[in-house]
Amino acid sequence: MTTEVAVGLQGNFIGGEWVTSSSGKTFENRNPADRDDLVGIFPESGRDDVEAAVAAARKAYPGWRATPAPRRAEILYAAGEILKRDKEELARLMTREMGKVLAETRGDVQEAIDMAFLAAGEGRRLFGFTTPSELPNKFAMCIRQPLGVCALVTPWNFPMAIPAWKSMAALIAGNTIVIKPASDTPASVVALARVFEEAGLPAGVFNVVIGSGGEVGDPLITHPDVRVVSFTGSTEVGRRISVACAPTFKRLHLEMGGKNAILVLEDADVDLAVEGAVWGAFGTTGQRCTASSRLLVHEEVVGEFVDKLTARVRSIRVGNGLDHAAQMGPCVSERQRETVARYVEIGKQEGAQLVCGGEKLTDGELSRGWFFAPTIFSEATPEMRISREEIFGPVTTVIPVESFEDGVRIANSVEYGLSGSVYTRDVERAFRAMRDFETGIFYVNSSTIGAEVHLPFGGVKNTGNGHREAGIAGLDVFTEWKSIYVDFSGRLQKAQIDTHESAD
Ligand code: NAP
Ligand code: MG
Repeated sequence: MTTEVAVGLQGNFIGGEWVTSSSGKTFENRNPADRDDLVGIFPESGRDDVEAAVAAARKAYPGWRATPAPRRAEILYAAGEILKRDKEELARLMTREMGKVLAETRGDVQEAIDMAFLAAGEGRRLFGFTTPSELPNKFAMCIRQPLGVCALVTPWNFPMAIPAWKSMAALIAGNTIVIKPASDTPASVVALARVFEEAGLPAGVFNVVIGSGGEVGDPLITHPDVRVVSFTGSTEVGRRISVACAPTFKRLHLEMGGKNAILVLEDADVDLAVEGAVWGAFGTTGQRCTASSRLLVHEEVVGEFVDKLTARVRSIRVGNGLDHAAQMGPCVSERQRETVARYVEIGKQEGAQLVCGGEKLTDGELSRGWFFAPTIFSEATPEMRISREEIFGPVTTVIPVESFEDGVRIANSVEYGLSGSVYTRDVERAFRAMRDFETGIFYVNSSTIGAEVHLPFGGVKNTGNGHREAGIAGLDVFTEWKSIYVDFSGRLQKAQIDTHESAD
């Protein structure tokens, strides 16, 4: 694998200018598949940079809010066209900074394109509603309004798709933005900012401040001029943000962890279920919030399932995601790989059966990066930590179940509720599963991953706080409803009172 040339020093994007951090400090972003590949050098920002970015977003807000939504939509549409034009280059950059294979980073950019076009279409809708008034000669309607400056805090596993989901929805509604990307993947958000810049987004509408969660994230989410905080990341950090935002009653949208289950019933097409499990568990090296990290398999078919799964997983080609032969890339960082290795030890100690994988991959080219073998545990019980806690790596756990009811109960026994799936040919049990899984997303005869941008995305229980990303539902995070009454009767009319006047 050749080492690509460093792209050099990158800046924050504040008020339409590319600027260094006020401290002048920087950090390196390296390819997790190849430590010698320097992706870029990024500003290590702090409170002063956050202040400048929030001020720029605040200044830009009145103008952007007053821009007609169909005009805002034209800019988002142009951004979608630029993303389409540069898709390959953006995918390569993303593979270098995050590690997932090119096919998947192309999908990540495609999700940003889809979201740009969805949001652009919303520019000529943004529907509110009209409704009859209870009084004569009175008109009643509801409209969506933007809130102001939105703080977006995003994770590294979907370096462009998640920033795009959030920003496109916020922008079409007329808000302005300050985004803090994950420290592992700033380059993809810098690239998104350049796309918006080229598309003609006015200065200050979209601002980027790069730096750590503590130094940039915390002052940003607690800033008094920030009206909305939209966060995707771990449940642990989400809980901290929730507490930090509570005193100022900020609008807070949280998308957090998952421990998603595929339920394979005894009448399932086992081969199809195995394909779904491989894709769901090892796509993105298992680093998806919707990863299929629990495989609940009916005891009648669990033997066949594990044998077929193991054969498939042993054949997964692990390597640098830029290499077309690679099917699975590295963990995003050394720290993430250490977490995975720790959980493998926990699984062994708990008495689950390690069927394959379970080790760091360090031979030849792989020694340059943070590779870990795709790993299966079988004969696990629902109580084990590997069956309950989010590992966020290439590890999946097979738990045998006695019945449909047992499977649903175990599926629902974790603290998370993002995605779930059932493999069955029985329509009655498919519908019961659709109804009874405690998740925000559910699939029938398909893996736990595969969301499309025009449907709401998010989870229940400790995965979310009731909001949804993407789709039309995503607008609810970034708009406030205003109810408007217009009285054209020429007299004072009293709701609830005039309507029920007594005859005396
Ligand atoms: P993370 O450690 O929680 O970080 C997420 C973001 O929060 C990063 O930008 C991080 O900055 C920032 N942050 C950290 N501490 C902060 C603080 N005190 N105040 C403000 N911001 C702070 O999560 P991650 O490791 O990047 O991503 C993996 C997690 O995201 C998993 O749990 C996964 O399930 C979840 N996820 C959920 C969804 C969903 O839609 N439900 C989608 C994708 C991922 P630094 O990078 O600088 O630390
Ligand atoms: Mg990196």
